[in-house]
Amino acid sequence: MSAVSEKQEFTFQAEIKQLLHLLAHSLYQSREIALRELVSNASDALDKMRYVGLTDEAFRETGTLEIVIEAKPDAHELVIRDNGIGMSHDELVTNLGTIARSGSLEFLKNATSQGKTDLSLIGQFGVGFYSAFMLADRVRVRTRSYREDSGWEWESEGTGTFQITPAEGLERGTEVILHLKEDCKDFTEPWRIQTALRKYSSFVPHPIKFADQVINEQKPIWVEPKSQVTDEQYQKFFQHLTHRTDETPLWHLHLAADSPIQFRAILYCPSTSIERLGLAREEHGLNLCAKRILVQNDCRELLPEYLRFLYGLVDSEDLPLNVSRETLQDNTVIRRIRNTLVKGVFDRLDLLAKDDPEKYLAFYQQFGPVLKEGIANDFSNRERIAKLLRFTSSRTEGADKPTSLEEYVSRALADQKHIYYFGGPDLTSIQKSPNLEIFRRRGIEVLYLTDPVDEFVMSSLGKFQDKALTSIDSADLDLPGEETEDKKEPEPPTGPFARVLELFREALGDRVQEVRESKRLTDSPCCLVNADGGLSTQMQRLLQRANRDFAVTKRTLEINPSAPLIRRLASLSANRDHDAFIRQCGLQLWANAQLLEGGVEEPETLVSRVQSFMEEAAEKRSPIVLS
Ligand code: ADP
Repeated sequence: MSAVSEKQEFTFQAEIKQLLHLLAHSLYQSREIALRELVSNASDALDKMRYVGLTDEAFRETGTLEIVIEAKPDAHELVIRDNGIGMSHDELVTNLGTIARSGSLEFLKNATSQGKTDLSLIGQFGVGFYSAFMLADRVRVRTRSYREDSGWEWESEGTGTFQITPAEGLERGTEVILHLKEDCKDFTEPWRIQTALRKYSSFVPHPIKFADQVINEQKPIWVEPKSQVTDEQYQKFFQHLTHRTDETPLWHLHLAADSPIQFRAILYCPSTSIERLGLAREEHGLNLCAKRILVQNDCRELLPEYLRFLYGLVDSEDLPLNVSRETLQDNTVIRRIRNTLVKGVFDRLDLLAKDDPEKYLAFYQQFGPVLKEGIANDFSNRERIAKLLRFTSSRTEGADKPTSLEEYVSRALADQKHIYYFGGPDLTSIQKSPNLEIFRRRGIEVLYLTDPVDEFVMSSLGKFQDKALTSIDSADLDLPGEETEDKKEPEPPTGPFARVLELFREALGDRVQEVRESKRLTDSPCCLVNADGGLSTQMQRLLQRANRDFAVTKRTLEINPSAPLIRRLASLSANRDHDAFIRQCGLQLWANAQLLEGGVEEPETLVSRVQSFMEEAAEKRSPIVLS
């Protein structure tokens, strides 16, 4: 630490200046959250002090850890005081002068610009302290670190700069003194303070004293039996953990395990996903307590990444207080707790899907994309996650309820060995695809995948309940259902149709793998399919978008001999004069099939070809009006 004896002036980081500007223009209603943020900081400082006291011999005597709120109406001041760890000079400069997490400001700006001016999320972004400037036009922070003998005073008017001066005679801990703004003077009134604290801070685990009274419950509801905890308590505890004031959790899970590891936990699923809003990634973990004492917040080791949207607290008797961040990863107690939590979450989700499908869908919409990551990352729970997936399908289109894989399997034909799906940029282009015709005809259900990630999910999942997940544009479909005689190895086509195929082949050259007769089409003249076992079209397109050099595999053009156009071409093929025209038709059919999938190679030749078709058709029309 630098030895400083006089007042020093510092400039806030640019982001903080912008943040302060935002705060100064916040809505009056959101101002009481400033009190919550400051109390929450004080409580964190007490947690840290308690932890130091339990793990470091030199600081065993911590005294009674508490938060004191003091109102000074005459001076228009509100004071929030704690006897926590305090801050050193350098800690003051970094903690109260810079934003630790990048992206926070962007997110807040976004939340504000959507016309809401909702700063209630502020505490989640590591900038809660600055909310003090919603209430105050001048803030002083007097603090002494538990490691030092003397302290410091930080002071700012919330514009561009702050000052730090040495301060003598301070007790250990921190005191935040708010000089209230003209329109916030009611924040010295007892009812105002009490309402705000009761609303937001009842679960702070340390006593909050105001006017010599402790005004919070500090009740560890997770150790209570479920039946003893009221909905309101769950709700308030959620708000305490998440700092999400106006939100009700979608669901919660209260777990109690006694062997092999003793622990209690409450997990919450919020009702909105921050990640879906863009910008920020969910980066909080769970709070980890050992014998009721918080040993770590944001503990990520307790849940897999794909459940990172859950909030909560875990408390175990079997953990030592001095468990360190570094050893958490290979701590067997943590691993076992994690397994039980994950299983609990899946059970909870299965139950929700069964009992309240609507709510489950709301959950799936928000958090499905994150949950799906687990299919690729958590081999052991893949089946359980797969059960939770939902898709629109050829059976459920139009209905607002998508299907699960289990429901699909229960409806599958008796001899059906695959689960069929088809990916496309949107529902309409999927539904128009000629590849679907044979599936419609035989009454085989097809899942429609519109979320690009779903194709990756399907291919990494591979199969579900022993049925292979198969894209319908793969070349060799061994379809169940009627028309089984089709399964016989087809005779190679002969006669005029064979001639049409030959001309098409000549015209397309190495643009395609093969041109052959189709067994899957009813009405459309042609469709494109992929080499057997190859990647689906949609998948290839995604990979190509990600990597320009990705080599797309050649595809097969299938032709429907009974489509009227093809029949007509077959009869024209008897006359060699029509060869050129039939070749042009071959090229155009290939382009049409691509267009249906939402993209086309060689657009220039396509346009000139269509143009000459039109000229030829126009040529055959008569300008004479017959009456
Ligand atoms: P966050 O609490 O989310 O990290 P804040 O802007 O509220 O973000 O606080 C920034 C940092 O300042 C805290 O991480 C903590 O290190 C420090 N701090 C704030 N208030 C106190 C306090 N009362 N006692 C000790 N340190 C504090």
